[in-house]
Order: sequence, then structure tokens, then C-alpha cells
Amino acid sequence: MRHYGPTKRILVTGGAGFIGAHLCEKLLEQGHEVLCVDNFYTGCRANVAHLVLNPLFEILRHDICFPLYVEVDEIYNLACPASPIHYQFDPVQTTKTSVHGAINMLGLAKRLKVKILQASTSEVYGDPAIHPQVESYWGNVNPIGSRSCYDEGKRCAETLFFDYHRQHNLKIKVARIFNTYGPRMHPSDGRVISNFIIQALRNKDITIYGDGLQTRSFCYVDDLIESLLKLMESPDDFTGPVNLGSPDEITILELAQKIIDMAGSKSQICHKPLPQDDPHQRQPDISLVKEKLGWQPKTDLEEGLRKTIEYFEAII
Ligand code: NAD
Ligand code: UDP
Ligand code: UDP
Repeated sequence: MRHYGPTKRILVTGGAGFIGAHLCEKLLEQGHEVLCVDNFYTGCRANVAHLVLNPLFEILRHDICFPLYVEVDEIYNLACPASPIHYQFDPVQTTKTSVHGAINMLGLAKRLKVKILQASTSEVYGDPAIHPQVESYWGNVNPIGSRSCYDEGKRCAETLFFDYHRQHNLKIKVARIFNTYGPRMHPSDGRVISNFIIQALRNKDITIYGDGLQTRSFCYVDDLIESLLKLMESPDDFTGPVNLGSPDEITILELAQKIIDMAGSKSQICHKPLPQDDPHQRQPDISLVKEKLGWQPKTDLEEGLRKTIEYFEAII
């Protein structure tokens, strides 16, 4: 049964993943009922094990490429493998998850007449030709490369969201999430922060792809979750797309050095080949989210890395 009071029944697809598990936790803290839908492709039950005894939490193993008939008041669509290793492992499934998955979740939102938020990505800008990236930039994406299953899938999902909005008056929110890190990152998903921390803690070589002069801007997961919640609560005429992330840009080489220092590690740096289409520079312009939602990240990189290092120390 759906709720009509201040608390809601909220569907989080990909709820057993890194960002999804933090979101489920925060929504439960706010008193909402949460339906977590996940096929455990990259997520795991351990991420939400601490929530299962909460009577407001429900978990359903389901692949969103297939139709889903449930009753909810709001939808966060996060299901999709997010790290290059995982989304390139079965690229056809990655595109299906973004495209068929979006169609099914939009169909569900349309039947229920509820708001739906899409976890889009900075990858829609590809290897950007403008810097920092603003929402009005259309991107520089290779349609046939090894990252395309993810980038083009997410771009098509944005198209579907805006077409359901225009054609069916659906209430949509499109979040372009930039690199996010923190506890519950998958230890073997190959993302740079988890790789470097695990390598540093084990005193193994730190693997820098290419010369390490490529940049990223890293946002701590708690800050990101706050921005997603604010976006969902924003007025209906604010659909996005909106950049969510940290504007503090750092080279991968500087990041490696910082993690070695913070972990007190004896690791050396080694260089490996740069993967195809690896973006050279990435930094969000966050003027829009600051103006519309009054949000900006609060956690600086040292503080966030310290918490993430503590998490990995405990699990490895
Ligand atoms: P993640 O891989 O940890 O989580 C994704 C979750 O989706 C996993 O639990 C996985 O099992 C589930 N999933 C995958 N395919 C599914 C399917 N077909 N049906 C049901 N569940 C499925 O990744 P994350 O970092 O938590 O990312 C969450 C979302 O945020 C993704 O959509 C991702 O594209 C987006 N995003 C993340 C980042 C980042 O830096 N982490 C950056 C930009 C965008
Ligand atoms: N859908 C779903 N749950 C629902 C309603 C729809 O999974 O509660 C799926 C359904 O399988 C359909 C898709 O969403 O294929 C798109 O639905 P829509 O109503 O937009 O299109 P149509 O049903 O006309 O194809
Ligand atoms: N990277 C690296 N060593 C690693 C993992 C990643 O040098 O062990 C680089 C990668 O080539 C990219 C950056 O770090 O330039 C961020 O990679 P990640 O996979 O975390 O995210 P994305 O490329 O999707 O931004």
C-alpha cells in the first residue's frame, strides 16, 4: 500500500551498490520505507546487511531490464555497474541496463504518476573539450569505443527521461554524478581510489595508468547523498540535468602520493598503459546546483580519504 503522509515508500534500484546502500540507509534514517531492487551484479547483500532487520526495509533480487510491478511513491534509478572493469565485462548488458532498465522504470513511474530520479554521469561529457564541464555542454563521446556501452547508454537514458517528461508530463530529475568515493566501494572494481588505498595498505606498487597527469575531482559519498536528496525534493520545474560532484580537481599522480603519505605506506609508483578513451581532465562546474539547491560538498579530500582508508583497513 502506498503512503500519503510525510513518509514515503521509496524504490532504490541498484540499492545494494556503493552509492545505493548509502542512499537506502539515509532514507530509512528519515523514516521512509525503502524497497531496494538489485540483481547483485556489482552490489552485494553485505552492503545492506545492517539494514535488513529494519522493518521499513525490503530487498528484492530483480534485473531492471525486465518489467517491475510494485507500488511506490518515488523512484531513484541507480542500477548500473559504474566502474570501467565491471561495465566493460558485459557491455551489452550494460547498455541494456541503462536503456531497457530506464524504459521499465519510466513505465513504472508513469503508471504510478510518481517522481523519478536518474543517476546519470559525468561520462555523458566523454573526454571533454571544455573545462570545467557545464550542463549545457553536449560532450565529446566516442560512440564505438570500450567506454561507449556506459557513456552512450547513460546518454540514451537521459534522452528517455526527457522524452517521458515532454510526452507524458512525467516528473523527472537527472543527476550527472562525478567521481564519488567512500566506504563500501567494491574492493575489486578497479576504481582509482579503492585500487590505490588497497595497494598502499598492502605496500604493493601503486598502478598509475599513463603519465598520471589526467585529472579527476572526487566527491565524498555522504555529500553526494545529500545532493541527491535535495534534488529529489526540489520544485517540479527543476528537472536538471545538474552536475553533482566536487570541483576540487587533482591529478592522479598527486592522488597517489597523497594516499601513500596518508596510509604511511612503503609503496612505489609504477606506470601501466592508459585505457582507451580515458578522459584527460574532469571537473564539474557546480554553479547550477549551488544556485538551485544551495548545495556544495563539505568534506575535503583528506577527511574523506581518511574515512575511506579506515574502512578498507577494516575489511582487507
Ligand atoms: P555500483 O556498481 O556499486 O552499484 C550499482 C548497483 O546496481 C549494484 O548494486 C548492481 O548490482 C546493481 N545493478 C547493476 N545492473 C543491474 C540491473 N540490470 N538490475 C538491477 N540492479 C542492477 O555503482 P555505484 O558507484 O554505486 O553507482 C550507482 C549509480 O551512480 C550508477 O548508475 C552509476 O552509473 C552512477 N554513478 C556513479 C559514479 C561513481 O563515482 N560512483 C559516478 C557517476 C555516476
Ligand atoms: N512497466 C513496468 N512496470 C510498470 C509499468 C510499465 O515495468 O508498472 C514497463 C513495461 O514493461 C513497459 C515499459 O515499462 O514495457 C514502458 O512502459 P510504457 O507505459 O511507457 O510503455 P508501453 O507499455 O506502452 O510499452
Ligand atoms: N586509474 C589509475 N590507476 C588505477 C585505476 C585508475 O591510474 O589503478 C586512473 C584511470 O585511468 C583514470 C582515473 O584513474 O584516469 C580514474 O579512474 P576510475 O576508473 O576511478 O574512474 P573514471 O575513469 O571512470 O573517472
